[in-house]
Amino acid sequence: MNTPNNKWSWEKQPLPIPVEEIKKTVEADIVVIGAGLAGMVAALSAREAGAKPIIIEKNWTFSARGFHNAAFCTKVQQKLDIKVDYRQVIRDWVRWSQSKADEVMLWRFARKSGACMDWLIDIAEAGGMQVGIWDGYYKGPDYTEYPVTHMFYIPGNPDISWNYGLSKILEKNIKSQGIEIHYNMPAARLIRDEQGPVTAVIAGKPGNYTRYNASRGVIIATGDYASDMEMLERYNSFALEADAQVYFPQETNVGEGHKIAMWIGAAMQKVEPHSTVIHLEAGAMSYFFLHVNARGKRFKNEDVNTQSKSCGKLLEPGGIAWTVYDANGLFDVQKSITSGIGGGLFWDQTERLKGQEWDMEAEQALLEEHIKNGKVVTANTLEELAKKMKVPAHNFMATVARYNQMAVQKDDEDFGKRPELLTPIEKPPFYAGKLLATILTASGGLRTNTNCEVLDEDDEPITNLYVAGSTAGGFFANDYPTICPGIGHGRCITFGRIAGIIAAGKNVDDIVPSRKI
Ligand SMILES: Cc1cc2nc3c(=O)[nH]c(=O)nc-3n(C[C@H](O)[C@H](O)[C@H](O)COP(=O)(O)OP(=O)(O)OC[C@H]3O[C@@H](n4cnc5c(N)ncnc54)[C@H](O)[C@@H]3O)c2cc1C
Repeated sequence: MNTPNNKWSWEKQPLPIPVEEIKKTVEADIVVIGAGLAGMVAALSAREAGAKPIIIEKNWTFSARGFHNAAFCTKVQQKLDIKVDYRQVIRDWVRWSQSKADEVMLWRFARKSGACMDWLIDIAEAGGMQVGIWDGYYKGPDYTEYPVTHMFYIPGNPDISWNYGLSKILEKNIKSQGIEIHYNMPAARLIRDEQGPVTAVIAGKPGNYTRYNASRGVIIATGDYASDMEMLERYNSFALEADAQVYFPQETNVGEGHKIAMWIGAAMQKVEPHSTVIHLEAGAMSYFFLHVNARGKRFKNEDVNTQSKSCGKLLEPGGIAWTVYDANGLFDVQKSITSGIGGGLFWDQTERLKGQEWDMEAEQALLEEHIKNGKVVTANTLEELAKKMKVPAHNFMATVARYNQMAVQKDDEDFGKRPELLTPIEKPPFYAGKLLATILTASGGLRTNTNCEVLDEDDEPITNLYVAGSTAGGFFANDYPTICPGIGHGRCITFGRIAGIIAAGKNVDDIVPSRKI
């Protein structure tokens, strides 16, 4: 595995941990590394399948982020009479990846995710949460986001809603089922019998390690590596261009699970570069408005998904871009959403559920907040706005004049945007929001199969080693597909459950029925 030059730090095998530093031994059937969504689902599923799992987590608490959770053919979709051509979703996804994503794995997700999500819904509802479907998906003619996005919430209580609230309930269930979570316990090495099975995890800090013996297996659920700049450089150097990262805490996702697995012979996925989730930071709310670069010039058809916008703007001078609108802006957005011609991640409201009205008051309050914290600048004239944006005023004025002319003509001769989304910029005050490309997840990972077994360079499973969630590879290729908002969490739920059941030695089909799609 080592390259001749050991160019990357993890390619150098670390020294074994001296036995005298191992102070304690813990016995378990299954050791799950990581208390994120994938790890918690895996542990609960393994328990349900009759095993005795234990979770080790390097932080003092579990990890939980965001709102959206994708699954196909669930009871909530059925209840709301949401009809989706799931086969088309997978075909779109395969096209997006140019056939480099693992198609067998995608179909496994398509058939199993419904039952896995229904299982999770039962747990969440028993814990007092409700479940709805996000209604903000993109409805354009050239690109579609599908209504597969589940959201867990407690009405009127945002602080314990969404995936944080869900994870609190999972943690409570884990404890009530007698599954121990050992916090502040970072996994440092996997122990493997020569080329045979993985038998243990060594975790802890120098001088004070614990050996966790795992008679049935180890499930790696340590998340991604977006906070490890060296891994980003190796597997997707383009991501280093992004403006920001929104992980909390920053050091959480540094690819430790990938590295400890590679040290005992695991391979990374074959397709490179890895796809990385780089979305626009929700702050600026770019919508479909005119976008200009640092030279005050338009450079694109703005009617595209968030990932395309954030990655595309990084190619502009200085990686800088602005979204520009006028006093009618938010009303134009509302019209586009209520008339069904617009939507999409970080365009429509992130929390709006099916059946809820678009909330103008909330949007206006958000805009005020962005102005206060400097994310959006505002002015009563376009010249003054250009000054605040630090773009050349003569270019900017010419760009806006040209854009307004095309809006009147209802014909975007320059970039071919849908005419219904060409809205003039003429009524003060004017606004400009700076677009921020933000890394959420580096979604490439360990080579694996549909049973969540970790594979070696010869594509052979490493006995008793499993992977779930964003440490796993193969699911995405080319770029992150935004067509199923919440697919990052979606795969944690589905493959976390599959990994737990298989590691416990049970047949997945006996516990998780396939849905006909
Ligand atoms: C701000 C933000 C919002 C997001 N919103 C969404 C969304 O709405 N929908 C969506 O689908 N995706 C979203 N994502 C992406 C999503 O959070 C990830 O895909 C998801 O967290 C992956 O879950 P996981 O269980 O695989 O890993 P994680 O949630 O990262 O959990 C891994 C856990 O392993 C622990 N760990 C790491 N190394 C070790 C070690 N050596 N030993 C022990 N423990 C270790 C970590 O501390 C962590 O607790 C968002 C991401 C961010 C940053």
